[in-house]
Amino acid sequence: MSIKVIVAGFKGKMGSTAVNMVKGDQELELVALLDPFADEKEVDGVPVFTAKEALIGFEADVWVDFTMPKVAYENTRFALENGFAPVVGTTGFTEDQIAELIALSKEKGLGGLIAPNFAIGAILLMEFAAKASKYFPDLEIIELHHDKKKDAPSGTAVKTAELIREARSYKKQGAEDEEESIAGARGAEFDGFRIHSVRLPGLVAHQEVIFGAQGEGLTLRHDSYDRISFMSGVNLGIKEVVKRDQLVYGLEQLL
Ligand code: NAP
Repeated sequence: MSIKVIVAGFKGKMGSTAVNMVKGDQELELVALLDPFADEKEVDGVPVFTAKEALIGFEADVWVDFTMPKVAYENTRFALENGFAPVVGTTGFTEDQIAELIALSKEKGLGGLIAPNFAIGAILLMEFAAKASKYFPDLEIIELHHDKKKDAPSGTAVKTAELIREARSYKKQGAEDEEESIAGARGAEFDGFRIHSVRLPGLVAHQEVIFGAQGEGLTLRHDSYDRISFMSGVNLGIKEVVKRDQLVYGLEQLL
């Protein structure tokens, strides 16, 4: 039996790549597409919906979401409330929202995944960075994305920062008396260290974590050159969430 998949945000850069991945896997079946601004009624025989409410009672197993930060929480809630296991790549969730969605998934007995990054290299970078931060507590995160990205810092940078916060003893970095002559010059502060967001055309999704210590430095870097880099993670997520009974945050929870 194939896993029936809905793709929300199917016309976007990530959503359209996910549609092709689902279509290319015989174990998966694309059953519905969602985009509030779509004009077409169907694509290759797959029905297109413009309002999520029209999917109430629809027969599907998994809700793949690559939409926009401002609707991601409502969409994920909707999926759980209607029996679709969410696999969400959309970024911009707060810690409270994630905790609420995990609680809702337990109540419903449904699996789910919110993954700020589906690329295996990015997962490894996060783990290595957290480990290194125990020994190199002075660090800065620089995330670099295409210039159409709506949220900053990236979900990957936030997740990396959270993992570092768990591993590293708190340290307020920089000079005690440092001052910004232009606001924002030192980036965003998180647990005493800084996060910088670069937005440029030509980029896809990249991140560096730079560590500094007495007389030495260490740089960890991951690059997604193409959105295909996220698809094995999305595929794994779809196949895993249908076997589980609660939502998890981070692809590493399923590896
Ligand atoms: P994008 O190209 O702008 O695609 C988003 C699509 O969602 C657009 O086609 C948009 O339509 C549509 N949309 C907006 N509101 C919607 C709604 N309520 N329901 C359904 N569809 C809706 O953006 P993208 O580059 O694909 O990125 C999408 C999200 O994935 C972002 O949050 C991004 O940060 C994240 N992302 C995650 C990963 C990961 O590995 N987890 C990797 C890359 C990107 P309109 O354009 O008509 O508004």
